[in-house]
Amino acid sequence: AMQAAKTAGRGRHAWFDATMERELISRNAIEAGLREGIPAGQFVPYYEPQVDLTSGAIIGFEVLARWEHPTRGIIPPDSFIPVAEECGLIADMSVSVMRRAFTEARDWDPSITLSVNISPAQLKDPWLAQKVVKLLVETGYPANRLEIEITESSLFQNLSLAQSIVGSLKNQGIRLALDDFGTGYSSLAHLRALPFDRIKIDKSFVTAMNKDPESMAIVDAISKLGESLNLPITAEGIEDQAIYDSLRKMGLHKGQGWHFGKPMTVAAARRLLAEKGLL
Ligand code: C2E
Ligand code: CA
Ligand code: CA
Ligand code: CA
Repeated sequence: AMQAAKTAGRGRHAWFDATMERELISRNAIEAGLREGIPAGQFVPYYEPQVDLTSGAIIGFEVLARWEHPTRGIIPPDSFIPVAEECGLIADMSVSVMRRAFTEARDWDPSITLSVNISPAQLKDPWLAQKVVKLLVETGYPANRLEIEITESSLFQNLSLAQSIVGSLKNQGIRLALDDFGTGYSSLAHLRALPFDRIKIDKSFVTAMNKDPESMAIVDAISKLGESLNLPITAEGIEDQAIYDSLRKMGLHKGQGWHFGKPMTVAAARRLLAEKGLL
C-alpha cells in the first residue's frame, strides 16, 4: 500500500517508468531464460490436431512451441518468440523443438504429418535447409511427412536467399505452406514469389465467419482462389460444429481448431492416435 501511495504521488510518469522497467526486466529475464532453457530442453513441442474435413480423420498435427518453465509453468510462444527473434536465439529454440517433435512422431502412422512454423528470421539463415535435413537424418523422420509454415512480408527483403533455402527444402520432399493468409503478413503477391503447396486461411476469418458476412465472404473467396490456383487450403480456428459444417459445405478439405483439439502434450497426442489405431 505504501508503494502504491508513493507511486500515485509521483504521478503518471513515475507509473509509466515503473512499467517500462518491469518490461525491461522481464525481457532480460526471458533472454536469460532462453539461454539457459534451450540447452536444458525446456522448449517443447505441443501438438494441435489437423483433420480431413470430409472424413473427420486425423491427418497430422501443427507443432507449436511451449516453454516448460521450471517455476512459472507453461509459457505460450507469443511471450518468448519475439525475444528469441530479437536476440538471435530463434534458430536454436526451433532446432530444439523440431528435434524433439521429429523424434516423438517418427514412429506414428505414416499417414500422420507434422507442420512446423519457421520464423522469417530463420529464412535469412543460409544454413537453414542443411540444419533441417541434418535433423531429419539424425532422427529418422521422413521428409515427405513434414510441412513448413512461413508468414511475413519481411522475408521478401531477401527474396533470393529465401527462394534458395525453400528450393533446397522442397528438393528434399518437404512441403511449404503460406500461413495466416489474408492478413497483412501474407498476401497475394507472396503466392507467386515462392513455390507454396498449401494456403492456411488465418483463424481471424474462420472464427468469425458465421457471425460476420465479410469474414464469410473472405473465406469463400480464398477457397475459390485455392481452387483456381490448384492449391489446397487448411482452415485454422475451427472452434465449433457450425463453422466445421460451413467449411465442409464450401468444400474445404483440411482444418484445425479447438473443435478438434487444443495444442496438447505428446502424451495426449499419443492417446488420441491410439484411440484411432494410428500409433
Ligand atoms: P500460428 O502459427 O498462427 O498458430 C495458430 C495459433 O492459433 C496457435 O497459438 C494455436 O494455439 C491457436 N489456435 C488453434 N486453434 C484455435 C482456435 O480454434 N481458436 C483460436 N482462437 N485459436 C486457436 P499459439 O500456440 O499460442 O502460437 C502462437 C504463434 O506462435 C503461432 O501462430 C506461431 O506464429 C508462433 N509459433 C508457435 N510455435 C512456433 C515455433 O516453434 N517457431 C516459430 N517461429 N513460431 C512459432
Ligand atoms: Ca502456423
Ligand atoms: Ca496461422
Ligand atoms: Ca499467427
